[in-house]
Amino acid sequence: MRDSALSRPAQRGLAAAAVLAVLVLAGLAAVRSVQPPAARPATDPAGEFSAERAFQTVSTIATTPHPAGSPANDRVREHLIAALSGLGLSPEVQDVVSEQGAGLSSSAGGTGLARVRNVVAVIPGTASTGRVFLIAHYDSAQVAPGANDDGAGTSTILETARALIAGERPRNDVVLVLTDAEEACLCGAKAFVEQHPLARNGGVALNLEARGSSGPAIMFETSAGNAQLVETYAQTPYPVGTSFAVEIYRLLPNDTDFTPFRESALFQGLNTAYIDGAAVYHAPTDKPEAMDRDSLQHHGANALALTREFGALDLRELKNGGGDATYFPAPGLLVRYPGALVWPLAVLALVAVAALGWVVRRRVAGAIGLALLPIIVAPVLAQGLWALLKLVRPEYAALPIDPYRPMWYRLAVIALSATVVLVWYALLRRRIGPAALAVGGLTWLAVLGVALAVLAPGGSYLGALPALSVAVSALIATRVGEKTAVAVLIVGALIPVVILLPTVVMLFPALGMPMAGVGAFLTVLLGLALLPVLDLIHPAPSGARGMEALKARRLGALPTLAAAVAALVCTVTGLVVDRFDAEHPSLTHLMYALDADNGTARWLSEETTPQEWTSQYVEGDPVTVTDTLPAFGAEELRSGPAQAAALPAPALTLLSESRSGDERTMRLRLDPQRAVRFTTLHVSAEVVSARIGSRTLAGGPSGWGFVFHAPPDEGIEISVTVRSAGPVTFRAMDGSDDLSALPGFQPRPPGVGVLGSHSSELVAVAKTYTL
Ligand SMILES: [Zn+2]
Repeated sequence: MRDSALSRPAQRGLAAAAVLAVLVLAGLAAVRSVQPPAARPATDPAGEFSAERAFQTVSTIATTPHPAGSPANDRVREHLIAALSGLGLSPEVQDVVSEQGAGLSSSAGGTGLARVRNVVAVIPGTASTGRVFLIAHYDSAQVAPGANDDGAGTSTILETARALIAGERPRNDVVLVLTDAEEACLCGAKAFVEQHPLARNGGVALNLEARGSSGPAIMFETSAGNAQLVETYAQTPYPVGTSFAVEIYRLLPNDTDFTPFRESALFQGLNTAYIDGAAVYHAPTDKPEAMDRDSLQHHGANALALTREFGALDLRELKNGGGDATYFPAPGLLVRYPGALVWPLAVLALVAVAALGWVVRRRVAGAIGLALLPIIVAPVLAQGLWALLKLVRPEYAALPIDPYRPMWYRLAVIALSATVVLVWYALLRRRIGPAALAVGGLTWLAVLGVALAVLAPGGSYLGALPALSVAVSALIATRVGEKTAVAVLIVGALIPVVILLPTVVMLFPALGMPMAGVGAFLTVLLGLALLPVLDLIHPAPSGARGMEALKARRLGALPTLAAAVAALVCTVTGLVVDRFDAEHPSLTHLMYALDADNGTARWLSEETTPQEWTSQYVEGDPVTVTDTLPAFGAEELRSGPAQAAALPAPALTLLSESRSGDERTMRLRLDPQRAVRFTTLHVSAEVVSARIGSRTLAGGPSGWGFVFHAPPDEGIEISVTVRSAGPVTFRAMDGSDDLSALPGFQPRPPGVGVLGSHSSELVAVAKTYTL
């Protein structure tokens, strides 16, 4: 750490080579630790999980979209029942009405409900101490075949069940829960948790999901007090999970079937998903051929191992509590330690950096301030790069998470961040000195460790452990000979590489290119943590003047230049590689609404900047449509005139009514007159209470409404008590999912596709009833 260390060029060259070699090897091992294993062939032993075997289920069930209530959904369910029966199990169908619970993301237009048909089967244990639940949803989004979401989870459960039955039977009961209507309202999982007898005593819930088509199966969510669960998860063959993901996930507007289980005090559990390749999420491109079978293998190998582990435990001793663990992947293992160590490690890191600062002293205060520059500039530039890419490719603005092939853009962001750190370092190295700059960078890592210990304890390790490791190695380096110092610094640099590089690799797919700045932020932190060793690839500071100094300065600019060129090359390559075509179409959003009151219709789109294809339907500024389409919620949409189609509106009939004071209780039948995915009803009067089937709903002020998914053929019966003596206005709407038969609709040309959204291709018909 002495500024004069390693001044002889030959030795310095050797040290630089050693640094580069070790960093590259450690980086490769770290990245490898978060890659899925290779898919296993169908010829693998019967007791093992084979992605090729599981994929046969994916190809069978994910040929067409199969949202809850559709005939295609019936066919998938029948296949699952037949497959489970073929394994010697006795599957049953839980056919009930359920609503989504408080705390879940609600449909825009009010309470979401659904008729659900969950497929449930039990593999009886040999001496059961409790139940292990394997959960995945077999319904798909309305325009997506759902090969990955959630054909991956569904097929994983079937292949896991097959392997469990073929191998040694678990001690505990294993309950297979293939849920319905997850995409609609998580109603299937909610129905199971609340209404199914097998859920009454709770147990361990393992949910399997996919939000994309590739990448590692990441264990990203746990129930509270996860120390024991994480210990069990660490026994899986390919553990990829981090306590930081739990914190990130809370910031994202996503829910899965795991939510109702997590919210129940009876259940503990883990939630796993692969999330890369998210351009196909909920879209027509979520087909079997889009699936990376290595991701399926990862999902399945871990699910089978976890089921065996939890299947063998005495579940009566598996208690909630014991605190949350900190955990993260490292080559060959899952590092984990109790949450109680978060604060001591964060404080220790701060003390170690302070001690190093005291040893260095000169210009340290200024260096701490200057270290903020790359931390701020790199994320801003990364966001700027994405804004620039959207200018070049306007279609990128409509992507929900990521482009089809985001890898080159991610590399560009990493290279750009490296450029920022290296330019900053090259400019300040002589004036401030390498040692002070290193302390400046480490300070912010240590501060981050403390800040996260307060705000998101599961992420504190990201700052604390690299700061601690590098500061301690630098302190040792000041007290030993030069050669030993180099070795010690290299060892100290391994921790930041092993911790931060996989985090960067996992964060990009989690947040997508629209939030590339977060990846840039972590890349800069890694760069700052590596300053003591990166200094060795710069020429020694010398007293030389003239040509010698110029030569040294040119040499010193080499790493910066390399990073800048890499950023440019990666960006251009990304633009060349990631073009839209028939298999990778741009994503457009369009829907249609018919007002049966006056026979007017309009096109609607949620695209913020309408693309060329969409522009032939919609125009002008976005508007809210809740006056005539209350189920659409507050979201602003662009609209344009459309021809009225001959579509019947849902029928609303008053079956009976009673009055008491200023309250009217009306028994109504809401009956769609065509094949629809859902129907809605909104009331222009204060609603005191309502009942749909066996479910009681809380009332609300005027405007109260609900969305009922997968309504049965005979319609639904509602009993609603309103505070109104006079006539009451009801707005009934229903929705189906295919625009192609509508008058005036032009099919999309090749290369233009459908955005994966819960309202894409929606055909809504609404009518007012005054009763
Ligand atoms: Zn899903």
